Amino acid sequence: MEMPPEKANEPTFFVDAMLGNIAKKLRLMGYDSMYFSSINDDELIQLAKNDKRIIISRDEDLVRKSIKNGIKSILTKNSTEIEQFRDIIKKSNLKIIEINGDRARCPNCNSKTQSIDKKNILQKIPIKVLEYNDRFWECKSCNQIFWEGTHIKNLQKFVGELNER
Ligand SMILES: [Zn+2]
Repeated sequence: MEMPPEKANEPTFFVDAMLGNIAKKLRLMGYDSMYFSSINDDELIQLAKNDKRIIISRDEDLVRKSIKNGIKSILTKNSTEIEQFRDIIKKSNLKIIEINGDRARCPNCNSKTQSIDKKNILQKIPIKVLEYNDRFWECKSCNQIFWEGTHIKNLQKFVGELNER
């Protein structure tokens, strides 16, 4: 079986239940990040182990258990999100820190998204959004449509700060 190219050279993650915002941001940066709002430790460890994912958690016991199981794990500090991200970038050696629609994964379900022609989604998008945006992406799995709206612009600011190192 052939592995998708990003699996070969980019880290993938399993983000612990408390850290949904981190999972969303990692997905938008294009990193494959599993996340469930409720999952027990043993299940999480098993899934992360099967997929060779890095666990990100603020639960010290879980991180200890993961390390015991040979899983690379990152204990996030109780600090600002920007500090948490700097830590994650450093410890997992992330190379690409940007929000790019063509690379981003669906923030809701972690699937890949694909560029979609504006003409095909006229009925699904508010007219104001159509007036101001030309590029749209659709999630291949949950079919949600994305554009570079306010949310992404705020994230671009966040990413800009991350890159000022
Ligand atoms: Zn989706």
